[in-house]
Amino acid sequence: MKQLTVISGKGGTGKTSITAALSILSGKAVIADCDVDAADLHLLLEPEVRDSGDFSGGKIARIDQSKCSRCGLCVRVCRFDAIEDFTVDSVSCEGCGFCFHVCPEGAIVMESTISGRWHVSGTRAGTMAHARLGIAEENSGKLVTLVRRKAVNCAEDEGAVSVITDGPPGIGCPVIASITGADLLLAVTEPTVSGIHDLERVVGVAGHFHIPVLVCINKCDINPYNAGLIEQFCDERGLAVVGKIPYDPEVTRAMIERKSVVEHDCGAVTAEVRLMWDKIRPMLQE
Ligand code: SF4
Ligand code: SF4
Repeated sequence: MKQLTVISGKGGTGKTSITAALSILSGKAVIADCDVDAADLHLLLEPEVRDSGDFSGGKIARIDQSKCSRCGLCVRVCRFDAIEDFTVDSVSCEGCGFCFHVCPEGAIVMESTISGRWHVSGTRAGTMAHARLGIAEENSGKLVTLVRRKAVNCAEDEGAVSVITDGPPGIGCPVIASITGADLLLAVTEPTVSGIHDLERVVGVAGHFHIPVLVCINKCDINPYNAGLIEQFCDERGLAVVGKIPYDPEVTRAMIERKSVVEHDCGAVTAEVRLMWDKIRPMLQE
């Protein structure tokens, strides 16, 4: 089983639309939505939840008032000013555990927090692992790793040939968690100045982990000059540009109808995404 992760240097490049389309074209992949901060794949694939569970992203401190001698040591050591009136503010507490270790009375306990829920669902594109973060919770590599592990387990159970992952945008910890162990990356970019810069960054991260990268230029015709610069960049680094997808407002209409661009006639966009899949598919079968 091979793992393809779709990434982009920032949000809004069309990464999720492309992931949905590739998943539909695959027909026999398991899907992992690891863009948990802005999980949109479920809007397109309309999952029916089959299994769920809590996700604990970390711990926060709690003071057992019956043991606290009010010495004030924890208040002084907390660098996040999270303790006031010998009570921990759960929003400010970063769970560093410093107060827990210094408390002379053993009055501080570190408690797991429920940060969100993971789900395994059935969709028309195949089984999908995804997650929903609680309000004000931050995405973490831990949650991404959990979603990917659920997807891989499902793929093994089903004998699926590939896992297609919608990665988080950027180059931070969740992105690293979404690409570690992947066999192939598809970097989706747009022909803007920031798009070129973001592509350079994600290619740099992928290079660090020695994962092959393919490139897709979305809305390639909105700025042919910048599209040319991206192709030049890819050429210099030996990266294959497997997709050059034009801009078409029909894509938005497809999304409103909750369809991927290969389930709605988006003209050249649909054709180009199919062509791109034809180039990617053999690499997931090698
Ligand atoms: S360090 Fe322990 S005993 Fe001292 S104020 Fe904090 S919780 Fe109470
Ligand atoms: S765990 Fe760290 S951040 Fe939280 S209250 Fe204790 S010292 Fe402050």
